[in-house]
Amino acid sequence: MGRVWFGVYRINLKAMVTVIVLAAFIYTAYVYAMGRIATETISAMSWAVSNQVIVVDPGHGGPDGGASGPSGTLEKDLNLAVAQKLSLVLSQAGAAVVMTRETDEDLSSEGKSIRERKKEDMQNRAKLAIDSKADLYIGIQANSFGTEWTGAQTFYKASSAKGEVLAKAIQGELRRTLKNTERKAKPLAETSSYILRTLDIPTAIVEVGFISNPKEEKLLNDPAYQQRIAWGIYAGIVKYFAGPKDDLGQ
Ligand SMILES: [Zn+2]
Repeated sequence: MGRVWFGVYRINLKAMVTVIVLAAFIYTAYVYAMGRIATETISAMSWAVSNQVIVVDPGHGGPDGGASGPSGTLEKDLNLAVAQKLSLVLSQAGAAVVMTRETDEDLSSEGKSIRERKKEDMQNRAKLAIDSKADLYIGIQANSFGTEWTGAQTFYKASSAKGEVLAKAIQGELRRTLKNTERKAKPLAETSSYILRTLDIPTAIVEVGFISNPKEEKLLNDPAYQQRIAWGIYAGIVKYFAGPKDDLGQ
């Protein structure tokens, strides 16, 4: 009896291993194929951004470093690195990109208090978006809160239906591209942001991750990871322009 049982057990074990290996293989192939399809879908839809005027605004700059990470990463540098990668991929798809800054500077004049400089800086960023008759505004920021929290998150103006569609599209693509967060797009009160209050165009503010988390700070400094963030934001913008945003009646 023991031999029969042993035999059956061996066969089952072998079959089980085969099934597991096969399932793992099929799953890997499926994930790879879906990734390819998703990337090709975005590429095929890239026409949607051509000729759109898109403001890309890397937060902070110059004397205003923004938040800083445990290893000394400055938010202003991180924001600029991601914004430059986003600008490149948008331009390649035919969008007219307006960067609020290309270097380590802010948009204010010398000889003013920090508070006054910040105010002038924000006013000039918003003015640039208005003067360029932009179709879209994308703010690039980094989060800072304790050492445990992680993940990119996109925000929109609570009263803007189009902004909500845009932010949700970007957040969805960031989740899919980065595969390390389940965060959802969230509304922001207009009072909390001069840009949101001032601009009427669809607006998304992307917090690319938590600079205050040592692991995520390291990740955010990796140019390949920055490229993936830029791709996720880009894919969301493409989906926004290609999608049925007007059905919301705003
Ligand atoms: Zn910031």
